[in-house]
Amino acid sequence: MRYFNLLDGDSVPALGLGTWKLAGDDARVTVQTAIGLGYRHIDCAPIYENEPDIGRALEFSLRGGEVSREKLWVTSKLWNDSHRADDVRPALERTLHDLQLDYLDLYLMHWPVAHKPGVSRPDDGTGFLSLEDVPLGETWTAMRDRRDAGLCRHIGVANFSTSKLQSLIDETGTVPAVNQVEAHPFLQQRELLEFCEENKILLTAYSPLGSRDRPDDMKQADEPSLFDHPTVQSIAERHDVSSASVLIAWAIQRGTIVIPKASSEAHLRENLQAAELELAESEMQDLESLDRGFRYVDGTFWEMPGGPYTAANLWD
Ligand code: NAP
Repeated sequence: MRYFNLLDGDSVPALGLGTWKLAGDDARVTVQTAIGLGYRHIDCAPIYENEPDIGRALEFSLRGGEVSREKLWVTSKLWNDSHRADDVRPALERTLHDLQLDYLDLYLMHWPVAHKPGVSRPDDGTGFLSLEDVPLGETWTAMRDRRDAGLCRHIGVANFSTSKLQSLIDETGTVPAVNQVEAHPFLQQRELLEFCEENKILLTAYSPLGSRDRPDDMKQADEPSLFDHPTVQSIAERHDVSSASVLIAWAIQRGTIVIPKASSEAHLRENLQAAELELAESEMQDLESLDRGFRYVDGTFWEMPGGPYTAANLWD
């Protein structure tokens, strides 16, 4: 397994397991199987509503000695309803309780979007708080305090644009360890990646396979398929691997952490093996030519009449 170095010299496994959409006991079994196969990095979030199930898997694997806590990398995220400074600590403590851990390796601000406390998923614009009401710096400073108190080893953000990263750094002086954003050959995020590299922020690629199992109401008509693209397929054929393997290898080879979600044991195995696959420079270039700025997770679900967020001000 390849590892990438963080600004403070610590290292993170380049491949992690995504856990969005793993429900109930499937989440427990999948995470337990993944750790048994050799996964050492699990990407969680309370909004995935499976942290108690994942906690059972972690407890089983750690207690049974399959892996030591030091060798496992666990990420979780602060949900949008807990952005106010006083709400960060209880949210993190709830996640630690559910995951049955004393600390996280990485705690991310899930979105640069704030909800009113207690509003998990707003029905209309009145469920939101604006970034003037709760500045991102307020949330970030509270997260930093929790890191300094030892509840998480690193803090980072997700779904942050270059301009939001720059403002956060200017305002607080604290550089996020990681920015987790959607990335794959159709959305390569080159400018953002360059900014992150310059500032020693690791970029994590989410939905690296195109998130085909996400809810229908988050899908657009006629979405392009990464798996079926002829360039991806021909590289896959050349290496006698799947399209998914090519996408995972591409992400790691360009220096991004990648967190494909999988539930079947066959997919889990395949994705782990893909982390060892090496693509030729010419294949990397062919994949680079596929960029078209296409988002599967496009953020329009935060746009509600009377609310403060739009896809345009989200991805600024
Ligand atoms: P994804 O990883 O792009 O795609 C998941 C889909 O790919 C599932 O249907 C899975 O099937 C399938 N798959 C996995 N391995 C495969 C293989 N080898 N061959 C064929 N199909 C395969 O989607 P995602 O869940 O949206 O993204 C990954 C993770 O990123 C999430 O789970 C979550 O942890 C994180 N994420 C974060 C954010 C954020 O806002 N920070 C947003 C989105 C996602 P099976 O399940 O049947 O194996």
